[in-house]
Amino acid sequence: MAKILLVEDELSIARGLIFNLEAEDYAVKHVTMAEEALLIYEKYDLIILDLMLPGMSGYEFLREVRSHDFRLPVLILSAMSGDEAVVKGLELGADDYVIKPFSLAQLLLRIKRLILRSQWAPREIESLKYYNVNGYHVDFDNFLAIKEESGEKVVLTQFEAGLLRYLIAHKNQVVTREELLSEVWGYENPPSETRTVDIFMGRLRKIFEENARAPRHFLSIRGAGYKFEE
Ligand code: CA
Repeated sequence: MAKILLVEDELSIARGLIFNLEAEDYAVKHVTMAEEALLIYEKYDLIILDLMLPGMSGYEFLREVRSHDFRLPVLILSAMSGDEAVVKGLELGADDYVIKPFSLAQLLLRIKRLILRSQWAPREIESLKYYNVNGYHVDFDNFLAIKEESGEKVVLTQFEAGLLRYLIAHKNQVVTREELLSEVWGYENPPSETRTVDIFMGRLRKIFEENARAPRHFLSIRGAGYKFEE
């Protein structure tokens, strides 16, 4: 059952949505403030986000979410129908934008599509352009890791960047060596004996960890593979 987080301060809209989403077998959690949503959003499969909220706006919330998570589907549901509002929402990383008042059937279809698509999003990891890793700003298009404090630049190789991007797209999940060889290095039948992944993992640790021998972010999971944690 997919879990939806609904961020909406208008109770009449929220009630109608919850009723209809639950009828479609979604589990819905409703909050009225973005501040509240920020504490729990990571547990959900999709966010329905109002923009005009008391306190933190939907835009600010979205910016905050996207600085940590570029995969989680976010659908903006707003009465702001101007081109500027829509463009801003999409630029900040919303996946879809539905204007109030809305067609329920259309909204449900869009939600379904977004959730389905996010399940194969790992195939789209090429779309990740920037990410912050332990004090470094990583620019994937230019293969650069820039230390935020000093501005010091480290140039990444293609596979260092590819591995990093894959790990980030699967953060908090264990990924196997075989999976990495096939998804990052492109092996059709990954060789079973290879140190490639270990060597590259070591390089990422050397760049991003305070102490490469006691990694806190690029973890080896004995007998299983690797895991990236923030
Ligand atoms: Ca509102």
